[in-house]
Amino acid sequence: MRPRRDKQKSEQVRENEEMYRRASTRILILGAGYSGLTLALQLGRELKALNNIRVMVIDRNNDLLFTPLLWTVANGRANPNNVVIPIRDFQKGRQFFVRHAEIEQIDLDQKEVRTSQGSLPYDILVIALGSRTAVPDLPGLRQHALPFHTPADALQLRNHLIDAIESAHYATDPAERQEWLTFVVGGAGDTGAELAAIVHDYLLTGLFRAYPWLADAPVRVVMVGRAERILPMSDPRTSHLVYRALKREGIEVLTGRSITGVEGRAVLTSSGTIPARTLFWAAGITAPEVVCHLPVPHARNGAVLVDDHLRIPEYQDVYVIGDCAWAYDSITKAPVPPTAQAARQQGAYVGKVLARECTNQPALPYRYTPLGHLALLGHETGVAQVGSLTFGGLPAWILWHLVYLLRNPSWTRRIRLVADWLLSGFLGPETGQLRLETELSQHMSAPEPMANRKPGRES
Ligand SMILES: Cc1cc2nc3c(=O)[nH]c(=O)nc-3n(C[C@H](O)[C@H](O)[C@H](O)COP(=O)(O)OP(=O)(O)OC[C@H]3O[C@@H](n4cnc5c(N)ncnc54)[C@H](O)[C@@H]3O)c2cc1C
Repeated sequence: MRPRRDKQKSEQVRENEEMYRRASTRILILGAGYSGLTLALQLGRELKALNNIRVMVIDRNNDLLFTPLLWTVANGRANPNNVVIPIRDFQKGRQFFVRHAEIEQIDLDQKEVRTSQGSLPYDILVIALGSRTAVPDLPGLRQHALPFHTPADALQLRNHLIDAIESAHYATDPAERQEWLTFVVGGAGDTGAELAAIVHDYLLTGLFRAYPWLADAPVRVVMVGRAERILPMSDPRTSHLVYRALKREGIEVLTGRSITGVEGRAVLTSSGTIPARTLFWAAGITAPEVVCHLPVPHARNGAVLVDDHLRIPEYQDVYVIGDCAWAYDSITKAPVPPTAQAARQQGAYVGKVLARECTNQPALPYRYTPLGHLALLGHETGVAQVGSLTFGGLPAWILWHLVYLLRNPSWTRRIRLVADWLLSGFLGPETGQLRLETELSQHMSAPEPMANRKPGRES
């Protein structure tokens, strides 16, 4: 039987938007990611008793992307649907409204946000728009480098590795074969290290099962970082353990050198050329364009500089949180890292600040509490730092899975993820390619990744 449309509900949604416009205090949150959604939920709890305040959240997407779980999509162990949670699931019984739209411009003087669905006024604005991968304008980089930030990137990584292996299979020239089998990762921070490990893991435990004749092939995964040590933002012990784990897996780690460009068959670095047809890129993030255009002071990566209460100093009714804020701990003055745990803490903090402001109470300055560090580094191995304890191997791998499973707020998604992980353990990871281009886009000329050419074709 077809479910009946709930007429009352759709009228309520319209009324809600009107309620937002008519409220005496209108709090507008831009972005429903880790920081924005945590803030909306916190405000729902804190402001229950104050019914002249309304909260509206705007996001172009209709779901929260659980970024750490993207690794298990990339290595063929999880269905991409199970790493995103519909925003509507969080809204049930909560007191905030959601508008599904693209944010086009933020007018801080007129106190208005222009979106693809019209403009919305605000009294208090919270910008929580996250970040994108920063790809510098180096020769060949923007045409060839493959970023890793979305479920589509995770599927593209898999598709690309399969293409490369197919090409290696058909290559008769040993030099060309080696180029197809060499995978360079630009960036040696958290994302770069996990990316290098996942590429290596997927090749060895996934694809080489499907292509057993390539199992002895001389695969190279090379991670290149500019700093002298990997994970430069992390505790040196964690960084050392991650380094050891990568080396044990057979990943080449090159530090103190930068990538200077890409050619069809090579990645160029400040100290030499690496013959390779693949470059994955994970060397830094930048703020979204709409944030970069704000006429306020920015950090080098476009994030907005905020004060001790995460506000823009010149606009005290505007808060910026998550990856697009450049914030410091108010006591230690240490910069806050762009992580999901910091984003969630900032969302919860601003929720409390706004609740206090609405009841005319002063708010304490922002403090960041690091909760630890987890990294997934390939087949049944990882690194974990919890308090003063740092450990690696299988226990860290198990802890990683447990933590991210429990952090996932949706029971349905948790059950599906466990099923995915267990099934892939028994049956092996997914090795089929899933192309997401529509028929139309296949006929349009798009930039061609280095190794995304048909096997056997000359480059
Ligand atoms: C592959 C990967 C793995 C990671 N692993 C970890 C990890 O293990 N641990 C950890 O702590 N952190 C991890 N991170 C970092 C973490 O994902 C980010 O720090 C976190 O998502 C930042 O939260 P946020 O709220 O600032 O932004 P997001 O969660 O990215 O939310 C931003 C929201 O804004 C919306 N948006 C942006 N621009 C517009 C626009 N113009 N119009 C409408 N909507 C818009 C987006 O759709 C999105 O929903 C990882 C990141 C990546 C890419």
